[in-house]
Amino acid sequence: IGFMIEPIQKLTHMSTQFQEGITGFQRFMEIMNLKPDIENKPNAMTPQKVNGEIEFKQVSFRYEDHLENVLSNLSFRVQPGEYVALVGPSGAGKTTLCSLIPRFYDAIAGEVLLDGINVRDIDLQSLRNNIGVVQQDVYLFSGTAMENIRYGNPAASDDEVIAAAKHANAHDFIMGLPMGYHSEIGQRGVKLSGGQKQRLSIARVFLKNPPILILDEATSALDNESESIVKESLESLAKGRTTIVIAHRLSTIRNAQRIIVLTEDGIVEQGTHNALLARDGAYAYLYSKQFELQV
Ligand code: ADP
Ligand code: MG
Repeated sequence: IGFMIEPIQKLTHMSTQFQEGITGFQRFMEIMNLKPDIENKPNAMTPQKVNGEIEFKQVSFRYEDHLENVLSNLSFRVQPGEYVALVGPSGAGKTTLCSLIPRFYDAIAGEVLLDGINVRDIDLQSLRNNIGVVQQDVYLFSGTAMENIRYGNPAASDDEVIAAAKHANAHDFIMGLPMGYHSEIGQRGVKLSGGQKQRLSIARVFLKNPPILILDEATSALDNESESIVKESLESLAKGRTTIVIAHRLSTIRNAQRIIVLTEDGIVEQGTHNALLARDGAYAYLYSKQFELQV
């Protein structure tokens, strides 16, 4: 019977390893049934310390089975700790651009570099451990509030989870749930508001503590009140991290150190809010069209 038990033990062992090693996003991709053919290089390197410089060098990308490039020959650099806003019309490729950094997809030409190292040469898990993503749609796993936040760092203690929730302005509403941190959330559990889910996902990223942050229209679906509390949490999260924020709302963009304007023609302008308004170009046009009612 030994010959039968051994493979089963191996299988069980493998699946535990698999579950421990898997990040929230990978699981999310699985659940969403997306299978990007991203492979870890056999001799991939694990950087000891990541400063968070991001550089795109003549990067082009198109989705598989599509004829046209979404991104063509893009080049820009973000300094460690810089707070950059990425703006542009819907469909310009902002989300796509950001998805190349954690290698949800690979560029078809050019290089995406992290601290000068091609992301393809970096161990995939180590790369993704260094990048926090907050998106408009937050995926909650079935499980407790504690477990949902712990996805940010499976090794974290309860105290660390609670500290992260406090940083994310999530602690008070979690304590108000019937079982506090042990309340079931997700599909079968307590129903949370959009802003509460968003603060849970921010708590995950605090716990993960990555040097790089991507905020993809994280507050665009929220009402004004929850937007302001989520924005406060995001601002505190962004401190000391390289941050790329894709935003619709002017208030989020105005404070950026630099605004990069991406249109279907590529990166057409870069600069501060005031400098770009003074140029009276693409940003000024977008601003007048999209932002005038939201100031
Ligand atoms: P933005 O974030 O600026 O609104 P996206 O990066 O989402 O733009 O999309 C850029 C272009 O790529 C759009 O034309 C969009 O339809 C297309 N696109 C986005 N995701 C996919 C996908 N998974 N497969 C095929 N095409 C996609
Ligand atoms: Mg987008």
